[in-house]
Amino acid sequence: MEQRGQQVEQQTLEDIVRQVCRELQTIEALPATSDEPLAQEHRADPDNGIFATMDEAITAAAAAQQTLFNSRLEVRSRIIDAICAEVRPQIEKLAHMGVQETGMGRVTDKILKHQLVLDKTPGVEDLQAYAFTGDDGLTVLELSPYGVIGAITPSTNPTETVICNAIGMIAAGNAVVFAPHPGARKVSLFAVELINQAIRKVGGPAHLVVTVAEPSHDNTRIMMEHPQINMLVATGGPGLVKAVMSSGKKAIGAGAGNPPVLVDKTADIEKAAADIVAGCSFDNNIPCIAEKEVIAVNCIADYLIFEMQKQGAWLLTEPHHIEALERLVLKDGKPVRDCIGRDAAWLLEAIGIQAPTSTRIILLETSSEHPFVQEEMLMPVLPLIRVEDADEGIQLAKKVEHGFRHTAIVHSSDINVLSRYAKELETTILVKNGPSFAGLGVGGEGHTTFTIAGPTGEGLTSARSFARNRRCVLVGSFAIK
Ligand code: NAD
Repeated sequence: MEQRGQQVEQQTLEDIVRQVCRELQTIEALPATSDEPLAQEHRADPDNGIFATMDEAITAAAAAQQTLFNSRLEVRSRIIDAICAEVRPQIEKLAHMGVQETGMGRVTDKILKHQLVLDKTPGVEDLQAYAFTGDDGLTVLELSPYGVIGAITPSTNPTETVICNAIGMIAAGNAVVFAPHPGARKVSLFAVELINQAIRKVGGPAHLVVTVAEPSHDNTRIMMEHPQINMLVATGGPGLVKAVMSSGKKAIGAGAGNPPVLVDKTADIEKAAADIVAGCSFDNNIPCIAEKEVIAVNCIADYLIFEMQKQGAWLLTEPHHIEALERLVLKDGKPVRDCIGRDAAWLLEAIGIQAPTSTRIILLETSSEHPFVQEEMLMPVLPLIRVEDADEGIQLAKKVEHGFRHTAIVHSSDINVLSRYAKELETTILVKNGPSFAGLGVGGEGHTTFTIAGPTGEGLTSARSFARNRRCVLVGSFAIK
């Protein structure tokens, strides 16, 4: 094993990645580099929602939206039911395709994420009207569609986001034009095809959900500037969120996070360990909500580490192993793209350590300044930082979350610690005594979404986030109380 580790030091990163891939017989799973030509399997196919140009896609979507808007609400519900029925038998294929095309994540977890989208994404029931009645009559607040929404989707949850966005946006009466990540092109276009087949089966308007055959940043920019796009919904990193927020259009921005998890001395340590390993390793840490660093109060830290090892954490303690990992996964202090979303065993093998494939995460102790703590690594590498008490832990958690106000997790049975943590961090999602994914409705109450809009304040988006508030006033009548 050590011999391998020494060999590794003399190789380039690309050599290491290819060597490990070859050994694991997953060379095809390597993500395409930006220089490689895009695959040609999907040509323009307007019947299935795939157009040659953004302009054609948007024009078609605008016509479809008008038809939907003039149809009964039950049409929207029928379409959503049909989408779920069409996608459900394809979940396993979508999960496999997603991992293969992007090189990121775990098939089993992606299956669960798709099931979650189909089971827990709200439909038209989310559009509750509100009424004022009194001496001057009746006023109704209604939720109306924006029109055509341009939705930009990530490589990390490509089809989960496409399907979840499509359900919520159609429920609110919109059409949607997708701009998928070019690195998840094939699987995203497949999801758009499935949605179009479903809409066709129930006689819904053609072209309600569309995209282009060759997604690219240029095509996304064309979409962002197009006059017929009424709203932009961006799910991705900080550059994208900034771009949509400066577009001059109504925008929803769902951006990056760096979720800390605090474990204090009053926590149920065995449960905390199990929850942290489960949450951090979920889809190999690519969800923006997944635990990215543990802050542990010193007096329970050793026991927490021991318990996490029992749950599938591989503890790295040897300095040369830690340095090899840093060389593998960091370049100029930032995560290396080819290591994002990889299995823990894959990363360990690349530094010369043979670990069981059941290994869920790599655990190591670091300082709070380490890039593993400061950067959103999006891989199953979990740094642990010791603090003296809960107060120090809360302040550190706030610092390393960088003010994204995205997600934070805490394990404690002290109500004051739970309360202070929530108040100080101000995150959109705060999970107490559970794994991070409980915040998405897995083993936690509430609906799901894969577009968590912290920067623009919608929070966990649903149909009502994609609707305009309109006031309809009837003067002098229909107040019957
Ligand atoms: P990314 O920012 O690289 O890409 C997201 C989308 O934006 C893609 O469609 C991409 O093509 C597009 N894009 C990026 N830069 C662009 C530009 N300059 N011009 C036009 N289009 C551009 O993100 P990713 O790697 O696909 O996803 C991971 C990131 O997204 C992480 O930071 C993660 O935290 C975040 N994310 C957030 C949420 C959320 O709900 N808040 C959900 C998923 C992912």
